[in-house]
Amino acid sequence: MINLVSVFGGLLGIAALGGSLRFNWWRPAKEGIPVLMYHKIGIPEPQSRQKPLWVNPERFNWQMEFLKNQGYMSITFADLASGKLPSKPVLITFDDGYLNQYTDAFPIMQRHGMKGVYYLVADAIGKDNYWHDPKQEPRVALMGLDEIREMRRLGHEFGSHALSHRRLAALPFQEARHEIEGSKKKLEDLLGERMVSFAFPYGNGEDVPELVKTSFDAGYGWVIGIHAGIWDPKKEKSVIKRAYIRGDDWKIDFSLQLRSGRSRV
Ligand SMILES: [Zn+2]
Repeated sequence: MINLVSVFGGLLGIAALGGSLRFNWWRPAKEGIPVLMYHKIGIPEPQSRQKPLWVNPERFNWQMEFLKNQGYMSITFADLASGKLPSKPVLITFDDGYLNQYTDAFPIMQRHGMKGVYYLVADAIGKDNYWHDPKQEPRVALMGLDEIREMRRLGHEFGSHALSHRRLAALPFQEARHEIEGSKKKLEDLLGERMVSFAFPYGNGEDVPELVKTSFDAGYGWVIGIHAGIWDPKKEKSVIKRAYIRGDDWKIDFSLQLRSGRSRV
């Protein structure tokens, strides 16, 4: 007769091994400020090939609640500049300026007393994600000035995500510089306030020292990429690492992301 106990024990062992390969729980917690990276909050169209970039609103609600229960307080770069920081700060960032950040993320954040930093594509405000191949990602509306102004009034912050969401490292230098400097000027004229942070579209350019320097020289105080990790604010003039919160992340992923900026091996 098969020994059921040993079969069961073996299955448990396999499950535990699978879990330890999938998660990087063994990675030590990093010192610094976790910077979360979101894109779209909502339910993707069935034909979307970018489903991990969509976070279900219910899951997002759970994540905001989790942050609050763990004692995290969301901050903006303006808070950082003022030097008054809570004991457990977190930066909650959103790329591209999708309208669903206003319709789906913003009310949830308000409910939990959280504020975000949103990266706007300066030439695309009120338009859509024209930079995506529609076969990969159907068109998604972007926020207009009314939504942006309403969120700003309530303490949320906006930054630049270049002019046209192109890969800056692939452009001639003068054009890449225009994307970095021109978007700052355009957004400042539109919103009537200083843009203090810049996020490279696709993270493209964050590994090119000349483009990073150009961003700081343009007057941005903080430059943001997409490499996974926890941001160490003591490292001056370095590109900020982020934790990419995926739509298919589990709850355990979220707590690992906060600890080390990544949850997957
Ligand atoms: Zn983007």
